[in-house]
Amino acid sequence: MILVSACLLGIDCKYNGSNSLSKAVLEFLKDKGSFVVCCPELLGGLSIPRGPYEIIGGTGKEVIEGKARVESDRGEDVTEEFLKGARRTLEFVEQNDIELAILKSGSPSCGVDRVYDGTFSGTLIKGDGVAAALLRSKGVRLISDEEVEKWQT
Ligand code: SF4
Repeated sequence: MILVSACLLGIDCKYNGSNSLSKAVLEFLKDKGSFVVCCPELLGGLSIPRGPYEIIGGTGKEVIEGKARVESDRGEDVTEEFLKGARRTLEFVEQNDIELAILKSGSPSCGVDRVYDGTFSGTLIKGDGVAAALLRSKGVRLISDEEVEKWQT
């Protein structure tokens, strides 16, 4: 079974009420059988619209370790909501026997390999978002939508 970030399939769950529909991800899923969608930030209790948020002082791994936090651009601390969303995503993964997750690049929750640096200046650093880091630590294979797009071109 495959898990997909809900916004990549056109669900309007992004912080600003829009989505990140990826035709490449849709194409990739066409012959892959069953898949499930989830939005870690909504699972954590956040609403639409919300944020925007970035990880301050590290990446998702450090948030899980209690060494970094997640804040909005106005300084609202939503670390607990992000951790709750990551834990609930992991429960979802375990209940559905998921081995692969296709996640939205750059997101402070779903980002794979790259996240914004906490300065709200558009600067990316190496590392995963909070939910992505928790899934990776449990052995789930992660792919970003950007990787899938590269395969399709
Ligand atoms: Fe998309 Fe993940 Fe952000 Fe939800 S938390 S809007 S699924 S990137």
